[in-house]
Amino acid sequence: MIPSGPLPVPRLGPYPDRPRPYPPGHPPHLPIRPLWVCRACGLPWPCAEARLLLKVEYDASPVDLAIYLSGLYHEATHDLFRLNPHDGPTPRELFERFVAWGPYRRGLVDPPTGDR
Ligand SMILES: [Zn+2]
Repeated sequence: MIPSGPLPVPRLGPYPDRPRPYPPGHPPHLPIRPLWVCRACGLPWPCAEARLLLKVEYDASPVDLAIYLSGLYHEATHDLFRLNPHDGPTPRELFERFVAWGPYRRGLVDPPTGDR
């Protein structure tokens, strides 16, 4: 059945609003878009501090962290490829930076099998 009214608009990626400021009142380690550098320390986001805070903040919900990071990977890829289409970071570099350090992952390469 065709729904009446407008079709749902596809969801955009998550808004990068985590990690929360810690200690409270200090500048949050959040990205400045579209550059994806940390607004607190100026390093490529997620900086080490942001990763640490995200791991703590999402300690009880690693799946949510994996989804959040994957969504921001999409967003950052969109921004950075448009910003610098020729010599920006590669997809693999962005994947490692945004997704691969997080929870619920396998290695980028499957381990060899059948050697025993
Ligand atoms: Zn930072």
